[in-house]
Amino acid sequence: MEKKKLSLPTQILIALILGVVVGLICSATGQADFTANYLKPFGTIFINLLKFIVVPVVLLSMIDGIVSMGDMKKIGSVGWKTIAYFLCTTAIACIIGLVFANIFNGAGLFPTLALEEGAEWTGNTSAKFMDTLVGIFPSNMWESFRTANMLQVIVIALLIGGSILAAGEKAGPAKTLLSSLYSVVENLMTFVIKLSPIGVFTMMAWVVATQGASIIGDLALVLLCAYIAYILHAVLVYSLSVKVFAGHSPIDFFKKASPAMIFAFTSTSSAATLPVSKESASSLGADEDIAAFVLPLGATVNMDGTAIYQCVATVFLATCCGIQLSLGQMVTIVITATLASIGTAGVSGAGMIMLAMVLTAMGIPVDMIMIIYGVDRLFDMGRTCLNVTGDIACSLCVTRWEKIKEGKA
Ligand code: ASP
Repeated sequence: MEKKKLSLPTQILIALILGVVVGLICSATGQADFTANYLKPFGTIFINLLKFIVVPVVLLSMIDGIVSMGDMKKIGSVGWKTIAYFLCTTAIACIIGLVFANIFNGAGLFPTLALEEGAEWTGNTSAKFMDTLVGIFPSNMWESFRTANMLQVIVIALLIGGSILAAGEKAGPAKTLLSSLYSVVENLMTFVIKLSPIGVFTMMAWVVATQGASIIGDLALVLLCAYIAYILHAVLVYSLSVKVFAGHSPIDFFKKASPAMIFAFTSTSSAATLPVSKESASSLGADEDIAAFVLPLGATVNMDGTAIYQCVATVFLATCCGIQLSLGQMVTIVITATLASIGTAGVSGAGMIMLAMVLTAMGIPVDMIMIIYGVDRLFDMGRTCLNVTGDIACSLCVTRWEKIKEGKA
């Protein structure tokens, strides 16, 4: 008899339930130490692998993104309008995410956990602006990689990506080499993601055993916060932009975009949803050529849902460590989450890996990710749905702007 393999989401769900059950049993029987001594180490191995891939993933995916944006020079005005739309909506998404995270946090709905030694926050709260600015620029590339200084890694990616574009044809082999390395790293990332059930089970059991059942309610609240922000962003930003810029009825927009939205929600991959989003965009009247350009680019760099998730998760995890973020740190979150969402691949779970980058940039221990990792799929469904909706809305707006430019609208 042929064995049927369980899909990854099913494996993660089973791991999550088992982890909660084992955690509750250990908590009730006073065996929390067992989870800390024998289960958590496997979760730590998983986290180490995540930390290990985060620098190459960020570096190569950002260079790849910049190089692909460079081709847009050829496409001229469509390219710049698309980038402007993507950047503005992503920045708004970050702000909406932060506002809701702060409302929830201010209302005392996010918990401060009793952390064990080694998980305390060691980041710098009061760095002066000029010091931060100077610190972003690396003096030694390898040192930035070694210490996983994410802001420096981003600057390195921007500089290398920009230089590749400036070098033109001569940079052909470098482009090919980097994109080939990126494929290797993508496969590595897929491998690490496949190990997630082990990470989810062991860490969930440990978190529930040491924090008690109340952590489940806390996770439900942070999910609720993210979904409120997702929905508000869709209703506010996409409805308004399609209405104002594309002259389209928002109700009709959501109706016709719904096949892609549902597909994205269930597949949790913007890239896999591309064929369906193309269908939806064309049924909404987007220009075929514009959609053929905007949608694949959007599936690679435009991730409003991911940006919201990263902001909400960062505030939540900061609170878990007992840190209250300052306004200046919120601005840093907006910048890093916008860049992180650009660097996020349009595949399932990629936003969580980029969250590691935002946390590192904020000086929050990456290990904190394990608290929400078990329910990441639930976040991912909503954020992918939003990511894809944003791409379709953009294709409509750019179609209309181009028509106006050509005097056809
Ligand atoms: N799954 C998301 C997407 O494909 C990316 C993410 O994990 O945030 O759009």
